Amino acid sequence: MAEQQEFDVVVIGGGPAGYHAAIRAAQLGLKTACIDAALGKDGQPALGGTCLRVGCIPSKALLDSSRQYWNMGHIFNEHGISFADQKIDVAQMVGRKDKIVKQFTGGIAALFKANKVTAFYGFGRLQKGNVVSVKQHDGTTVELKGTNVILAAGSDSIELPFAKFDGKNIVDNEGALDFTEVPKRLGVIGAGVIGLELGSVWNRLGSEVTVFEAMPDFLAAADKEVAKVAAREFKKQGLDIRLGTKCTKIEVKADGVHVSFTDAKGDQELVVDKLLVAVGRRAATKNLLADDTGVKLNDRGQIEVDEHCHTGVDGVWAIGDCVRGPMLAHKGFEEGIAVAELIAGLPGHVNFDTIPWVIYTEPELAWVGKTEEQLKAEGVAYKAGSFPFAAVGRAVAMSEPIGFVKVLADAETDRVLGMHLVGPNVSELVHEGVLTMEFKGSADDLARICHAHPSLSEAVHDAAMAVAKRAIHKA
Ligand code: FAD
Repeated sequence: MAEQQEFDVVVIGGGPAGYHAAIRAAQLGLKTACIDAALGKDGQPALGGTCLRVGCIPSKALLDSSRQYWNMGHIFNEHGISFADQKIDVAQMVGRKDKIVKQFTGGIAALFKANKVTAFYGFGRLQKGNVVSVKQHDGTTVELKGTNVILAAGSDSIELPFAKFDGKNIVDNEGALDFTEVPKRLGVIGAGVIGLELGSVWNRLGSEVTVFEAMPDFLAAADKEVAKVAAREFKKQGLDIRLGTKCTKIEVKADGVHVSFTDAKGDQELVVDKLLVAVGRRAATKNLLADDTGVKLNDRGQIEVDEHCHTGVDGVWAIGDCVRGPMLAHKGFEEGIAVAELIAGLPGHVNFDTIPWVIYTEPELAWVGKTEEQLKAEGVAYKAGSFPFAAVGRAVAMSEPIGFVKVLADAETDRVLGMHLVGPNVSELVHEGVLTMEFKGSADDLARICHAHPSLSEAVHDAAMAVAKRAIHKA
């Protein structure tokens, strides 16, 4: 019989959702344990989940390295800067990324220590009666009894049955973050966030990148005009995005990975050196639950929860990528904090209407709230104001005049219903929209707030002014 330890809160999963829940619960005075199964590249336990190990942070590290390299060959010459030789040391670039990952995964372990969260390293499985059995990496098993158990198991890459990951030629995000050299030809299945971000990294470094996308529309969830600007710019950068293209067979041969696909022209084949499959992620709920826990999964394998992330089983909660809602780290952060606060008797909540979305390509894309297409479909009367970065002094001074900001407001009340951005640093600017919407502000509120000149945020200000047709810098 395994040793049993008692906690107020036991969290399964130390990713963004789980570690936020664990730290907040401990801050609130609850005796907390957090279990995580993941190992880092060095074979040691690594907290932080997909986000810190193989997701948000390492992808941004490579996006930044590749952006610097790309700028050398493009924007630098506009500034009159020249250099003798443009080279990329892939090992050093990936090493820098690994160092950043290590810094952050180690940082979570330090935060656990400082906040007195007890970490268990191994695989946790929920049993009946809020008991979690943990098979630790050293082979031993411990049982943790939690007054509350929070399931934060995250998600895994979806594998296509005809394109099994081999970690070498056919890879998921993990493999594409660790190529040892720039692939001459890179195929990407899926023109979603991960495919576009990682496709951009290797494209900027010199790969010929072909992106296969089964859907006929590009970035269907984004504002149509934002998606149009992005598609145009990606094309200019050399990303070959093929919409309405269905991959049917993948074969690894001596000369590369043969991708068979069907598009409007019929059956075709393309040979690439590496293939990244980025067709989405699914909840990592395999083996997480014993049969008699009472916790239910839906047909997508996600844990069923109510609006407070409660599973319906006394004391059992679920958060992050393993439940409904957008698979975003910051959505998981908020759910983790909200559940810890609810457990402590405080009023935790997450506002799904103001969760920002960002794609960290060049240009960046970001949005919050409803698109024009959604408002039309819902029959909501709205006003739109937009403003181009080409008319923003700071953007032009930076040689980054691409894109625009669009503000959507209710036709009657002027309340901001959405903000859609494409252009420089819009991953930061979108938070003006988030704040305005969270405070139920109007386009006029935003227009009457003084913005620094010259700054990129003037595009937000002028777009808000354009809602009432009084933008100063628009002809
Ligand atoms: P995860 O991060 O998946 O963490 C779950 C953890 O639980 C893992 O460590 C796992 O090993 C562990 N675990 C699972 N089951 C068990 C078990 N039974 N026992 C013990 N441990 C277990 N999101 C953004 O918001 N911004 C971005 O820029 C962004 N970029 C991304 C880029 C890439 C390439 C990828 C793949 C994802 C990106 N995401 C981004 C998505 C983001 O990483 C996820 O939404 C986020 O990590 C989900 O957090 P989570 O805590 O729910 O799950």
